[in-house]
Amino acid sequence: MIRAVFPGSFDPIHNGHIDIALRASRLVDELIVAVYDKPLKNFLFTPEERISLVEGVFRNVPKVKVMGYSGLTVKFCQKMQAQVIVRGLRVFSDFEYEFRMGLANHRLAPDVEVLALITSEEHTFLSSTTVREIASLGGDVSSMVPKSVEIALQQKFLELGEDHPVIPTQTIRD
Ligand code: ADP
Repeated sequence: MIRAVFPGSFDPIHNGHIDIALRASRLVDELIVAVYDKPLKNFLFTPEERISLVEGVFRNVPKVKVMGYSGLTVKFCQKMQAQVIVRGLRVFSDFEYEFRMGLANHRLAPDVEVLALITSEEHTFLSSTTVREIASLGGDVSSMVPKSVEIALQQKFLELGEDHPVIPTQTIRD
């Protein structure tokens, strides 16, 4: 049985992530979408909110499970007995980062392979940072995220009010 982990911040999940997760799930027996929870990071959504949004997206996809995790991704893989880490590649800058991370992870856990899928053309520009920035300025993100995420973003910025602090731009790779 091949089990894979797709790790990320998912702050929030967007159509680029969903595309990678669904395509990867066809290649394996089980895919765990692992929502990174590092308390030191300045996320827009809480870990519970990010997990719940991801769960909502994959509720009807039996092969996909959703979990929160912190610490080293390879340790989480070993704990879950997953043989594969799935990553998505957008542009050249992603490649350099993923290349470094892939080699480092392989050094730490030679038995865990990295499977990098190239983004679908229509999602090349898409990142959580872009989605957060557009939504924070009242822009239309309906073509970039599922309805549930669009609503969560509207609610979040309503709660934060007009004078919301600078929107955190960090992702797992910062
Ligand atoms: P982001 O970079 O969107 O803030 P994450 O840190 O949550 O996202 O990224 C998790 C994984 O999803 C990474 O492997 C990242 O390269 C991949 N990913 C993010 N956006 C896209 C996209 N538009 N197309 C393909 N893969 C993506």
